[in-house]
Amino acid sequence: MQLKSIEIQGFKSFALKTRLDFDAGMTAVVGPNGSGKSNLAEAIRWVLGEQSNKQLRGKASTDVIFAGSENKVQSPRAIVRLIFENESGRFPVDAAEVAVARSLSRSGESEYTVNGDPVRLIDLQHMLAEAGIGAKTYTVISQGMVDRYLSATPAARRELFDEATGIRAMQIKLHEAEKKIRATQHHAQEIETVIHELEPRLAVLGRQIQRHNERQDLEKVFYDKQSTWFEHTWHEFSHDLEIAQIHGRELDEQIAQARALRQAYEQRLLSASASPHNSVLQEKIHQARAHYEAATQEYIRITQERERLDASVKDVQQKRKAAEQALEEKRGQSLYFDWLKTTRQLLRRAQDLLQQVMNGASSDRTNIEALVDEINTTLDRTDDSMSVSMARSVLTQLEKPLQEAARLQAIEQERKAQLKALIVPVKPSASEVELLERQLAVQAAVDTSATLPEELEAAREKELMAEREAGAARVAIQQANQALHGLEQEILRERGTKFLQVVQHQPPTNPKPSDQEIRQLSGRISQLGTIDELTLKEYDEVKQRYDHLTHQLQDIRDTERNIQELQARLRQEMNQLFTQQFAVIQRSFSTYFLTLFGGGKASLTLSEEGIEIEAIPPHKRARHISLLSGGERALTSLALLLAILEAQRPPFVVLDEVDAALDEANSKNLSETLRDKSKHTQFIVITHNRQTMSVADVLYGVTMLQDGISKIYSVSMKEIEELVEPAPQNQRMNV
Ligand code: ATP
Repeated sequence: MQLKSIEIQGFKSFALKTRLDFDAGMTAVVGPNGSGKSNLAEAIRWVLGEQSNKQLRGKASTDVIFAGSENKVQSPRAIVRLIFENESGRFPVDAAEVAVARSLSRSGESEYTVNGDPVRLIDLQHMLAEAGIGAKTYTVISQGMVDRYLSATPAARRELFDEATGIRAMQIKLHEAEKKIRATQHHAQEIETVIHELEPRLAVLGRQIQRHNERQDLEKVFYDKQSTWFEHTWHEFSHDLEIAQIHGRELDEQIAQARALRQAYEQRLLSASASPHNSVLQEKIHQARAHYEAATQEYIRITQERERLDASVKDVQQKRKAAEQALEEKRGQSLYFDWLKTTRQLLRRAQDLLQQVMNGASSDRTNIEALVDEINTTLDRTDDSMSVSMARSVLTQLEKPLQEAARLQAIEQERKAQLKALIVPVKPSASEVELLERQLAVQAAVDTSATLPEELEAAREKELMAEREAGAARVAIQQANQALHGLEQEILRERGTKFLQVVQHQPPTNPKPSDQEIRQLSGRISQLGTIDELTLKEYDEVKQRYDHLTHQLQDIRDTERNIQELQARLRQEMNQLFTQQFAVIQRSFSTYFLTLFGGGKASLTLSEEGIEIEAIPPHKRARHISLLSGGERALTSLALLLAILEAQRPPFVVLDEVDAALDEANSKNLSETLRDKSKHTQFIVITHNRQTMSVADVLYGVTMLQDGISKIYSVSMKEIEELVEPAPQNQRMNV
């Protein structure tokens, strides 16, 4: 990459539009004191984004605008444009030529552009940094700039080296990261404080919520257990009631028997004669038994007959369906004979009739037979023997299944009628016989009794006892009833109608929990107490806030860790870069010192305090650098400058009178070194030094006439030789 030209207008003494073109290699700018040479160097520094007014030898930013002279008015604005060749693509711009410009108006309007497009300073700085140039780097070097290295303390020198090696930017990043970490830690502390404040409240609420949850869990268990308990208890109570009712009925029976016995005794006592009652009763029992047995036999017979008939009907139905299906197939065939016009109508009627037969609507055989006859007669009258024989064959085929279907239909109907007539009698019961037998037993006991009055007394006693017991049983029934009713009311209250219905209709599946278990569960639930809505809400809010803050704290800690990692990476990169660059500078410094001085020894060392410089010119003893002569000092500075350039490798360098203090021999050494270096680096050297001029590829002269405006013109070395008086000691010259 190469600086091709510079265009200046309105910048300092360059009031008029001025353009300088540069070649690769070395260009020298010469001219008398005050002609504006340094203004040229500053113009370059300015366009590259220099922000320091001091560096530009001014107080206000607008001081760079041409201020006017005796016969020329001030400029409204300063514009400087650098045009670079960008074949190598060092600028990240897709163009072979890149024009970087800066302008400033008196009103303070400032603008940077790249190829005419406005850009932000920061973006421009990035672009320039990528190409290895910029206001802060060693692109434009003035005399005093390098001397700073020698006059600085080791610590301050270390800072200058940090800048020169390019780690300054990283240090700034590191510093920013530290600031960020501090802010992050502060924020984390604030959050931690809030978290600590929340913790006790959250713990209290948490315990309440835990009890609440425990209660809910227990309530669920209780609900299930109580349901099972209800199921079992309902069935138990219902069973108890049933038992009590059965017992009650048994007692009623006993009363009835005792009463019958007592009445029989009493009757016996009254009539005091034997009755024929017994034999009548025996006869009745005999008849009742005979009747019962006959009825049972009849019942069995009729039931079996019904079953047989039922099977027969099903069988006939099946056969009829088969016959009807066959008929249906044949009937389909008859439809093909459209040509048999005369019989078609008859056939249709036959079909209708058959359909009726199949549907069970009619079983009129005579009708069908008459129809068949009619068809036959019609066919007899037909001349077409072929048609007749075909029709006949259809008819024959039709006739058989038709008759079969009708026959089966008739059988089926007959069986159905039989089935309907066969009424099954009521299943006979043996209870009548049993009742009669019981009466007979009582009568027999009375009849055979020898001691009637005692027996009567005993019978009375028995009746009374049974009545008393029955009274107690009624109370028991009532109690069982009440218990069941009470339980049902409780179930209704607790679980509702649907649950009660389920309980009543299906037996329990799980084992019954004990009453004690139910009581204990219920007690524990009431012990846990209830929790109000507000507490629940507060818990949710506090928990949410706590979680949010904890999460936030975690994020902050993550960020902190990330920054720390970045710092570690930066430190490592920085150390690497510094070590690498410093090694280059160290090595080059010693070499350049030797070349420029033609001997001697110099070195840079890294110490605790910073960077130490040792410089021993030829034939001198080691002394502190502050004791070097002006020229020695300048040459040492130049050796250091060249060493730094070796590490930085900028594409072009502007040197502003860095050779002013050198004698001829040293100037020669420097010019040769620059000449050598210019193979790789483009140099624009502002100089008064003849030696330096002599190695330049191109020379520009700068003049300033009475109008106070700098002007540029090309000069050849020959012109200079003619103009310049040889000045062996002092190389300063004016063009
Ligand atoms: P030397 O060889 O002595 O270092 P030089 O050639 O480098 O001199 P400069 O320092 O570049 O000269 O130029 C200084 C001249 O520029 C002065 O005459 C000064 O008045 C003039 N100058 C500086 N700023 C402005 C400005 N804003 N408007 C007009 N002229 C200015």
